[in-house]
Amino acid sequence: MKIKSIRFGMLRVPLKTPFKTAMRTVKEIEDVVVIMETDTGHIGYGSAPATAVITGETHGSIIEAINKIIFPALIGRDIEDLNNLTNTIQGAIVRNFSAKAATEIAVYDLYGQLYNAPLYKLLGGGDNVITTDITISVDYIDKMVEDALDAIDLGFETLKIKVGKDPALDIERIKAVYNAVNDRALIRLDANQGWTPKQTVSVLRTLEDSGVRLELVEQPVRGDDIEGMKYVTERVHSPIMADESSFGPKEANELIRNRAADIINIKLMKTGGISNAIKIADIAAVYGVDCMIGCMLESSIGVAAAAHIAVAKASIITKVDLDTPSLGQYDPVKSGVRFNNAEITITDLPGLGISEIGNLTMLDL
Ligand code: MG
Repeated sequence: MKIKSIRFGMLRVPLKTPFKTAMRTVKEIEDVVVIMETDTGHIGYGSAPATAVITGETHGSIIEAINKIIFPALIGRDIEDLNNLTNTIQGAIVRNFSAKAATEIAVYDLYGQLYNAPLYKLLGGGDNVITTDITISVDYIDKMVEDALDAIDLGFETLKIKVGKDPALDIERIKAVYNAVNDRALIRLDANQGWTPKQTVSVLRTLEDSGVRLELVEQPVRGDDIEGMKYVTERVHSPIMADESSFGPKEANELIRNRAADIINIKLMKTGGISNAIKIADIAAVYGVDCMIGCMLESSIGVAAAAHIAVAKASIITKVDLDTPSLGQYDPVKSGVRFNNAEITITDLPGLGISEIGNLTMLDL
């Protein structure tokens, strides 16, 4: 099975409710879709959203990096030569992590199809059912409480509450949601870099003293402030998780070695794809540090790939934050991964098992 050609499409899915974090408000999922064609007629799919504020990439930069730099190095190559293909992808261009991720996802999809097995089985296998949390956007307190209770009614057992706007108001938001939830779900916080290190310690100590128990607190301070992450991690009881501070295996390793975070959030769009996500999980396993697998606000193509990794590395990826397919008004992607609110199940379809992508607007390059 040799790589022959590549095409691109755009996939848009309107959200049920606007996604609001300390950094941005988004109303729809909008992904570049990579369609990788082979000489055997098999097609591999990958995707990437533009998250300029996190990876520095736009739809245009993702397409350009793949079409002009990464893909030309892959033409004519054998899918069975997986490790060399991922090395080529990672070495073709510096940074551009989401472009690399979209390309790797398509290559791994084809690798699964070549051996007629779902990707997670080729990555080592595991229990094919995992459970995700759901995101509660930052908003008025009443709205956040209402969203939290709705999520519990849908069967979610873990809520990821977006905060990081204003420390005093955030404390009120968290207390209100925590009290309304009343032990029916675990509470994770994601401050999306919205607090300073001192504010974080103050907020978390106030919450801890008032009896609010948090499963973890994600990226309270600026991503590039590793000292700040360490400062917070040393001073609070709540486990601190690195998201925007952790990109590839090197950054994850440094965070772990410096004890600057208790947990690492792995996202394919930050690691540059599946090969590095596996490396991070393996590094974390060496040190006994738990990982979360997360995703950007992105289509269920990339999220499906993340689900396969979560299953194969479940012993160290103990937390799953793959809720974006259930945030969309519908899911135009039919794949081997079934997203049913909190429950994610992987079927035996080969690779990612993608059979249909509705609403895909093909690009003429
Ligand atoms: Mg985050």
